[in-house]
Amino acid sequence: MNVRRPTEREPGTLLVSGGGRGIGAATARLAAARGWDVAVNYARDAAAAETVAADVRALGRRALVLQAEVGDDAAVRAMFAELDRAWGAHSLGGLVVNAGVVDVAARVDEMDAARVERMFRINVFGAFSCAREALRRMGTKHGGAGGAIVNVGSAASRVGSPGQYVDYAASKGAIDTFTLGLAREVAAEGVRVNCVRPGIIDTEIHASGGQPERALQAAPQLPMQRAGHADEVAAAIVWLLSDAASYVNGALLDVSGGR
Ligand code: NAP
Repeated sequence: MNVRRPTEREPGTLLVSGGGRGIGAATARLAAARGWDVAVNYARDAAAAETVAADVRALGRRALVLQAEVGDDAAVRAMFAELDRAWGAHSLGGLVVNAGVVDVAARVDEMDAARVERMFRINVFGAFSCAREALRRMGTKHGGAGGAIVNVGSAASRVGSPGQYVDYAASKGAIDTFTLGLAREVAAEGVRVNCVRPGIIDTEIHASGGQPERALQAAPQLPMQRAGHADEVAAAIVWLLSDAASYVNGALLDVSGGR
């Protein structure tokens, strides 16, 4: 037989960007239940991140809370350095690129440059910064033991979100392409890269975009007549991180209830 499979790995240490609330928090909790130690990154809400970390510890795993604005490359580098100090260089086995923002509903002809710049800085540049630092620790090219990256994109990359936030949809389109390219770039270096594209999920992100009831209000227009739950997205993310997905690479997995 000439098809060589890597040896199966135990879950190791995982960093979840934006792990304090919503999909990231659900992912951190489920990953801990599946045996991962979890570093929980957040931007502003320290209390939420600490709560998630406490839940991870209650599941018998190690947790670390790391504040960093992912749109600030220096802050991302400092966060990974802190992770190295706490858990050891090359300890990382997984990264979930989850931190992301929306903005209030607007047409493109109403968007100023500062808005679009912020959107891409956090959602796209932040993904590049986090993935680069993770690859330098996980990639066999860099002396790492391999690992997995899951990017959190959005079904918005397919639908474009007209009249709502085309800037957000375009930033998630970039995440799709980032996934496809990076997956092939590092495939021979022990790192798989995939993307989960949620549909409308019931989290606080909609309130931050000025539409707190969006998930509820959208339900009648959705194929399954309901929005998704954060833990339904987390299940796909944690599967992609796991050895059960050992030959899944460069996939864009819709978790959108058919939307
Ligand atoms: P959420 O409930 O608003 O939570 C966002 C999390 O990301 C929070 O922990 C937040 O930290 C963190 N975060 C935001 N900006 C950050 C930054 N600049 N640096 C570091 N952390 C930052 O959002 P969510 O709904 O779970 O969304 C998570 C991901 O799923 C995003 O990428 C989003 O685009 C994507 N998504 C969501 C939906 C949906 O319907 N909910 C649909 C498709 C895709 P703080 O707690 O400190 O603020």
